[in-house]
Amino acid sequence: MHIHPDARSVVRALSPDEPVILNRPHAAARAARFFIEKFPGKPLYAVKANPSPELLHVLWDAGITHYDVASIAEVRLVRGLLPDAALCFMHPVKTPGAIREAYHEHGVRTFSLDTAEELAKIVEACRDAHGNPARDLRLAVRLRVSSEYSELSLASKFGCDLTEAPRLLQQARQHGDWLGVCFHVGSQAMSPFAFVQALDRTRAAIAQAGVVIDMIDVGGGFPSIYPGLEPPAMEDYFAIIARHFEALPIAYNAELWCEPGRALCAEYSSLVVRVERRRGDELFINDGAYGALYDAAHVNWRFPVRALGDDRSESLQDFAFYGPTCDDADFMQGPFALPADIGAGDYVEIGMLGAYGAAMKTGFNGFGAAMQVTVSDEPMASLYDGSRARPEADNVVSLR
Ligand SMILES: *Cc1c(COP(=O)(O)O)cnc(C)c1O
Repeated sequence: MHIHPDARSVVRALSPDEPVILNRPHAAARAARFFIEKFPGKPLYAVKANPSPELLHVLWDAGITHYDVASIAEVRLVRGLLPDAALCFMHPVKTPGAIREAYHEHGVRTFSLDTAEELAKIVEACRDAHGNPARDLRLAVRLRVSSEYSELSLASKFGCDLTEAPRLLQQARQHGDWLGVCFHVGSQAMSPFAFVQALDRTRAAIAQAGVVIDMIDVGGGFPSIYPGLEPPAMEDYFAIIARHFEALPIAYNAELWCEPGRALCAEYSSLVVRVERRRGDELFINDGAYGALYDAAHVNWRFPVRALGDDRSESLQDFAFYGPTCDDADFMQGPFALPADIGAGDYVEIGMLGAYGAAMKTGFNGFGAAMQVTVSDEPMASLYDGSRARPEADNVVSLR
C-alpha cells in the first residue's frame, strides 16, 4: 500500500477531481492504546462511529477486543473481519431475527435492553432447539441519563428512568449469571461531570433494585478536539469515572466498560476537498451535507481547515461552505478560516473527520464518491500525542 506523507503530496500526486479521505492508522492505533492503557476498565469500540474495515483491523491490532454493535449488519461486518472479537449488541430496540442470528450464528452473548418487552424478546430469541432458555446471556439494562454536558444529546430516545429501572434490573437478573448497567451521556461530553451525574443515577437504581451487578458500562461520549470544543484532558474523565465506579454498591469483582466511538476514531481521517467556485465569503466545495460533512451542515459542527496551495495569502478570512448537491440545506456555516485570496481550483484539507464523517456518506445527487488514501503525518489536533498538559485531576470533584 502506498503511503503519502501528507495532504499536500496527495494533491500534488493526484490532483483529485473528487473528495479524498486521508486515513491515519497510526493515530487510531495511538488512541486505542491510550484507552487500553489508561482507562480503568475495558474499552469497547462503538462501530457506528466509523465501520471502515481497515480501521477495525487497526483497532483490533492495537488491542481492542470488544465491539459495540447496533444492527445485524454491524454484527455480520465485524464478525466477518474479526472472527475472535467479542461483539456486544448494545441497541436497546432489536428485531427478534437480529437477536436470533446474533446469538445462534455469531456468538453474541451481551445484549442491552431498556424495557420488559425487549427482555422477553431476547429470552425468546435465544432459546435452543428444544425450547430451553439460554444460560449464558449477559444482559445490560440501559438507564436514561442527562445529556446536559454533551454537544449531541442521546437522552430522549433510549434508556429506562429511575421509576422503571429497579424492577427491570430484578427481572433481568432472573435470566443470566451476569447483569450490567449501561448508559450514554451524549456525544462529545465536554465535562467529566457528565459521568458523575450518570453514575449517581446508576447508584440509585442499583440500591433500589437490591440485585448483584457484575458490570457497569459508562458508554461513549468521550470527546475529541474541534475548534471551539477543547475538552479537559481525557485522564480527568478516566480518574473521575474510576472514583465513582469504586463507590458503587456492586460485586467486588464487577467490571467497568466504556464504549468510545468518536474518541477512538476522530483523529483517524481528514478530507481533501476542492473549491469549485467562490462567491464572496462562500466557497462551493465538492463534498458536503450528504457526504462526509454531515455534522458540519446538520449540527453546525466546526472542523479545523487548512488550504493546501503553496502561494496563498498569510491573512485568513472566515468562510462558509456550500456542498456539491443542488439542495440549499447542503450548507456549512462554519466559520472556516482560510487564506483571504483562496479561490476556485484550490484544495482544502478538513480535519478530525474520522468519527461520523465517512460513515454518514450518501450518494445523493450523484456526489459522494471518495477515494481513500493513507497518510503518515499527524492529525490536525490530538488528545493523545502528549501535547496537552494534564490539568490536576484529583481535586476536580469530590466524592460525596
Ligand atoms: C453512539 C454510541 C456510542 C459511541 O458514542 P461516542 O459519543 O461516539 O463515543 C457508544 N454506545 C452507544 C450505545 C451508542 O449509541
